[in-house]
Amino acid sequence: MIPFSSAKPLKFPSSFPPFLQSLSPFVSLHSPPIPSIRNPPPRLRILSLDAAQPFDYETQFKSQYLKSNALKIAVVGFGNFGQFLSKTILRHGHTILPHSRSDYSLAAADLGLTFFHDLNDLCEQHPEVVLLSTSILSIEEVLGKFPFQRLRRNTLFVDVLSVKEFPRSVMVKYLPEEFDILCTHPMFGPESGKGSWAGLPFVFDKVRIGNDPYRLGRCNKFLTIFEKEGCRMVEMSCAEHDKCAAGSQFVTHTMGRVLEKFGLESSPINTKGYETLLNLVENTAGDSFDLYYGLFMYNKNALEQLQKLDMAFESLKKDLFGHLHNVCRNQLFGGSVEKPVLYLEQKLLTDGTTPVEAPSMEISREER
Ligand code: NAP
Repeated sequence: MIPFSSAKPLKFPSSFPPFLQSLSPFVSLHSPPIPSIRNPPPRLRILSLDAAQPFDYETQFKSQYLKSNALKIAVVGFGNFGQFLSKTILRHGHTILPHSRSDYSLAAADLGLTFFHDLNDLCEQHPEVVLLSTSILSIEEVLGKFPFQRLRRNTLFVDVLSVKEFPRSVMVKYLPEEFDILCTHPMFGPESGKGSWAGLPFVFDKVRIGNDPYRLGRCNKFLTIFEKEGCRMVEMSCAEHDKCAAGSQFVTHTMGRVLEKFGLESSPINTKGYETLLNLVENTAGDSFDLYYGLFMYNKNALEQLQKLDMAFESLKKDLFGHLHNVCRNQLFGGSVEKPVLYLEQKLLTDGTTPVEAPSMEISREER
């Protein structure tokens, strides 16, 4: 049995922090009653002194730090992607004020947020940042009737649209001159960024950021959200982004949609390659057609990529059918087939710079 006398105040060692010392008169150890058959020994209770308490210095310091770094961010366009981004931004201690054309009160309440039906009411909350997450197709309409006069005289506008040159020019056109503009593209979505954003590319272009510490700091605080999530931060111009994205993102979405129309189905003997195709369809099928159409309409490089894809497909079909045709001819005429020539499509696909030698079984110019 532990020989403690009843209700004895507990003395903390002098190495303990002062505020713990001051608690000493209120903390006591009770000696347990002598165990007997009628009175069995009490269960061992462990009272933790180390759990973080709201009055702890560290906790107070942490909450002060979070408050001083917190941004009030209006999210305009609280659809699929707006909600997805908001969940993570909230974890960084920022305040979110959601608004959308449709009513997302319930989705907002699920995140502990108040939904703003009226954009005027939202602007009167004077957010430091307005995050535009509407469709590419609607951005001009949204900005055309935005009540800028209700905002602070200087507000940071950030867009997350999947094309960049178009929203950049629309923002430069509509936003008051004293507003800051940051164009961004988180190159992941609710599917591909489901588990973590670590290593995923985040493209940004500081189109117009005022050169004073507050405005620079505000922009950096916003970017820090993505940095802290482990995104690969890529600073590049909007024009450069659109050029790269047409060759990668637009082609990816197109192939995903083609395969979706084709109707891929899982089988018990899926290969790894086939699983990749199924994942591609899953990653792209969740996005709205507006998004895909926006990638096509508002990226001037997209049409060229679509034509290249079309030509590549045609060229491949000709390879196959040409091969088959030659086999049949050889069987019919005993192999007296003319020697092959260059493929026009392949020349075009390589920008006409590198003429490609045709394989031995290709068809002759006369046959085509
Ligand atoms: P989306 O179809 O591109 O956009 C839907 C959003 O646009 C909704 O918030 C919708 O509001 C709003 N909207 C549509 N038409 C509108 C109009 N006429 N007036 C006002 N608002 C309108 O789908 P999303 O996936 O949510 O994408 C949002 C933005 O994020 C897009 O610009 C997209 O390019 C970009 N983005 C998306 C992804 C992704 O993986 N999904 C990744 C990176 C960037 P209501 O729902 O209230 O109608």
